[in-house]
Amino acid sequence: MLIVKKFGGTSVGNRDRIFNVANRCIEDYKNGNDVVVVLSAMGKYTDVLIDMAKEINPNPPKREMDMILTTGEQQSVALMSMAMASLGVPAVSLNAYQVAMHTTSVYSNARIKRIDTERIRNELEQHKIVIVTGFQGVNKFDDYTTLGRGGSDTTAVAIAAALHADKCEIYTDVDGVYTADPRKVPGARKLDQVTYDEMLELATLGAGVLHNRSVELAKKYGVRLVVRSSLNNNEGTVVREGTKMEKMIVSGVAADTDAARVAVIGLKDEPGVAFKLFNALAKQNINIDMILQSIGRHGKKDISFTCTDEDADLAKQIIEDQMEFEEIDVDKGVSKVSIVGAGMQTNAGVAAKMFEALYDANINIRMISTSEIRVTVLINEKNTERAMNAIHDKFNLGNE
Ligand code: ASP
Ligand code: MG
Repeated sequence: MLIVKKFGGTSVGNRDRIFNVANRCIEDYKNGNDVVVVLSAMGKYTDVLIDMAKEINPNPPKREMDMILTTGEQQSVALMSMAMASLGVPAVSLNAYQVAMHTTSVYSNARIKRIDTERIRNELEQHKIVIVTGFQGVNKFDDYTTLGRGGSDTTAVAIAAALHADKCEIYTDVDGVYTADPRKVPGARKLDQVTYDEMLELATLGAGVLHNRSVELAKKYGVRLVVRSSLNNNEGTVVREGTKMEKMIVSGVAADTDAARVAVIGLKDEPGVAFKLFNALAKQNINIDMILQSIGRHGKKDISFTCTDEDADLAKQIIEDQMEFEEIDVDKGVSKVSIVGAGMQTNAGVAAKMFEALYDANINIRMISTSEIRVTVLINEKNTERAMNAIHDKFNLGNE
């Protein structure tokens, strides 16, 4: 079998952890598998590098920023290879340039275009464990790029896809994907399986276990993913295409407290107003999430939407500068709580049940949005954990 194993920062955070990872990889290697290892920078080293850069220049050129950030991963792959050598196992570390992992040119948020597999295959043929830097790539100018924070997951999936690996294991410091954040919902349970689509919604909603682009890639290329802990031998969660999932209608509850609600009251009720408003925001790269438009009355209408807390003031400024309206109100004290489940598509009453849980807990819903496999409500941020627990209980997610 060809196995790609990715380990996050905490999994390689110190000497003992590095040897722990080395041993886990060597076990697969000794069982006759080809092993490709993808690593993140040690611990919070990427943050250390960012601070280092900002001390020299608070507004560092993006190219140079990627130049320094890629050193974090280069450090961990070299140390891992040395650890394996000390254990008598042949290994080789490779960075993005050596592999070559080709990306788009955008610094700090590049996308993988293509991965050359020749070098990796050659090293595997020589019976080496191949250890590759996560998070980084090379663009058409032969410069280093990075894939965005948390991007090592995406590197691992892209390599697994390029090599047609039999599986791609993402090792982290939690046991897998949970029905809810166990720190907020004590009864949360680890899921054995989730579908790509569910995982994509959960990753986008900030469940924090996987980089969402890694899930997109896995779905596109049918890479079978396993999310598991590097600190124990528990089974983890399998992410795959699937129809017969655990007969659960809802798989999980997620919350995002980084949300703000902007309400624009008394806009003109005529064609092109929504276009003008959202186009102005898009031009400044403000991502809009939920949108609500009222029925027009007396030639006026209201539009409310959500964005991140950070973007809210800029959004207000842009609207004040470019739109005609009566009033604008920004509320940063809101959060989004969502339920996700592939089974929703074929089951009626799922949203109603979620709303009932909130009603029972006396929590007011400010906005609602849905997709085929997700229902999201906007509520007062103070009620976030209470809402998560109420919904988790209502759907009985703690029990199989
Ligand atoms: N080291 C990078 C980060 O901290 C990439 C990763 O860990 O996935 O964002
Ligand atoms: Mg991560």
